Amino acid sequence: MIKTDIIIIGAGPVGLFTIFEAGLMKLKCHLIDAIPQAGGQLTEIYPKKPIYDIPGYPSVLAGELIDRLMEQAAPFKPGFTLGERADTIEKQEDGSFIVTTSEGTAHHAPVVMIAGGLGSFEPRKPKIEALPNFEKNGVEYMVREPEHFLGKKIFISGGGDSALDWAIYFAEKNDSPVGLIHRSDAFRAHKDSVEKAYQLEKEGKIEFYTHAEVVDLKGDKILESIEIKQKGQENKIVEVDTWLPLFGLSPKLGPIGDWGLEIEKNAIKVDNTLDYQTNIPGVFAIGDVNTYPGKLKLILCGFHEATLAVQTAYKIIHPEKRFTLKYTTVQGVQGFD
Ligand SMILES: Cc1cc2nc3c(=O)[nH]c(=O)nc-3n(C[C@H](O)[C@H](O)[C@H](O)COP(=O)(O)OP(=O)(O)OC[C@H]3O[C@@H](n4cnc5c(N)ncnc54)[C@H](O)[C@@H]3O)c2cc1C
Repeated sequence: MIKTDIIIIGAGPVGLFTIFEAGLMKLKCHLIDAIPQAGGQLTEIYPKKPIYDIPGYPSVLAGELIDRLMEQAAPFKPGFTLGERADTIEKQEDGSFIVTTSEGTAHHAPVVMIAGGLGSFEPRKPKIEALPNFEKNGVEYMVREPEHFLGKKIFISGGGDSALDWAIYFAEKNDSPVGLIHRSDAFRAHKDSVEKAYQLEKEGKIEFYTHAEVVDLKGDKILESIEIKQKGQENKIVEVDTWLPLFGLSPKLGPIGDWGLEIEKNAIKVDNTLDYQTNIPGVFAIGDVNTYPGKLKLILCGFHEATLAVQTAYKIIHPEKRFTLKYTTVQGVQGFD
């Protein structure tokens, strides 16, 4: 059981900034995110886009903003459970909560902050009948631990950054060439990555299958081969250890929608007159995931909501103490040892 002061569901920009604001009040945070890295929409959807409305930054790349937020949070030593979706919440007799993930990891805290953005990102799955038989037995939708795939015969489907980045990574690490299957010959990935992948093809490290898709999977419990349909050619069956269909992730409010929270238009209703608490005392919702009159889905609005929410969180966690807000210019930033 992981114990902390505040369980934060969602490691997007708002969840990350909460660590800092809570840290100033000496509250510890543990974050859960369904995707294997921190950053939410900024790393998942638009890491290379500049953002122009972050105070003090005339322009900052989304990916860089996440790096800065991680740096700002680091002195407060947050814990992370990444690549696992928060599935259930159970209120305890003393008013605290246990949040358990899709992988069974349990977290215990007196306060829960839901910073779940548009919801947990779920992989877009191809429509292949045999697919469920091989999930986690040769078919993976995310690369959580790349070392796990070293030395394996890997095929990747997709034309975006994720597909190209991992194809390049494994082509450079593994002896056997990586197969890269894409429905067209136009890739959405960054131009540099596409050029690099074609360079690796010349070196015999990547095999391209364009205008192609995987139509069937075979194996005895564990994936042994995939069937590739390619325009103008006979279907081909190739032996593989791992197939990574990387077709992107789509957000879904998911299990949070069944936690007894008041939901309006796929967002969680909160009290914006005070502290962004939900209808369940001790559970807050901040950032894109919440709704209230006049709500704006902007990063800086989420930062403001996080700052106010932790004030009430402090009172719940330390009912006997009084916290006096001091400027960081006065008290500095004292992290945890
Ligand atoms: C293309 C684009 C451009 C944008 N440009 C701007 C801009 O210029 N300025 C601006 O202010 N905003 C911009 N936005 C909006 C901005 O990205 C969002 O306001 C911001 O990402 C919200 O942050 P968040 O932390 O609330 O949620 P998110 O960034 O959505 O992060 C939420 C995280 O919660 C996780 N999660 C959800 N449910 C669960 C669960 N059950 N278990 C585990 N994890 C879960 C998700 O996996 C996700 O990582 C833009 C958005 C897009 C798509």
